[in-house]
Amino acid sequence: MKEIDFHNWYVKKGRAFQLEDTPTLPSGKELAVQKEWLLEFNRIAEKLNRLQSTLHASKARGLLLVLQGMDASGKDGVIRSVFSHVSPLGARAEAFGVPSEEERHHDFLWRIHHKTPALGEIVIFNRSHYEDVLVPRVLGLIGKGTWEKRFRHIMNFESMLVDAGISVVKCYLHISNQEQKKRLQTRLDDPHKRWKLQASDFSDRKLWSKYLAAYQDAMTATSSAATPWYVVPADSKDYRDLFLARLLVHTLEKMHLVLPKPSFDLSSVDLK
Ligand code: ADP
Repeated sequence: MKEIDFHNWYVKKGRAFQLEDTPTLPSGKELAVQKEWLLEFNRIAEKLNRLQSTLHASKARGLLLVLQGMDASGKDGVIRSVFSHVSPLGARAEAFGVPSEEERHHDFLWRIHHKTPALGEIVIFNRSHYEDVLVPRVLGLIGKGTWEKRFRHIMNFESMLVDAGISVVKCYLHISNQEQKKRLQTRLDDPHKRWKLQASDFSDRKLWSKYLAAYQDAMTATSSAATPWYVVPADSKDYRDLFLARLLVHTLEKMHLVLPKPSFDLSSVDLK
């Protein structure tokens, strides 16, 4: 199967783009092989498993995957599928909801920093510090001066993580407005899925284009070669999962991880 060219989905710093014009499904050629996405995911997930156990053993590097996207874009789904193939030893997911009173009394990165990965860990953020340049902006609670300052703080913060050995990869799960409608309808119809619904899912849907504009600005301001943003076509759950698994494998391979050497001379072992 054709490799995914991540470059096509990479947001270039400072270059404006329109999410409305960015595909929510892969191109025709890739679509033609969609039956194979799940098989390919299982194959690549084995690789991910091996790389993660090497990461955990080596304690040389860490990996932070930031997941953002509109409601029902599949953040929980990605976490479920990726985690079904990695060991919970050394992997963790962290979700960020509306800040608590205590969190609101601190700077916006305060609640984020101590959830970042230690060396040897993969951490997936289900929402993140990016919420603070999206929600308050769209609701009119902060002005341009504030969100632009936050972009700078975010870049400095992520650059510090990179200097500490943590690779930072950020993904926007890109679904169409129609696909979100379909998924919210499924949640309304299915008693097992209703618990996922929040009143804000429906009010935020009315603010769709304002959120798109906020996402576009945030991504173009804070994407860099060391801390890239990718727009992941996410209307197909299988393709989205395959994309993420491949991206994680690609990122871990670039770390050139090696297993630690045994701490003593194995030739001296006398195993009776
Ligand atoms: P999810 O929608 O991710 O499944 P929840 O139902 O717990 O999870 O919703 C989390 C809500 O918290 C979302 O509406 C999100 O926009 C909001 N949120 C997260 N971080 C912030 C923030 N910093 N400021 C305002 N709202 C936030």
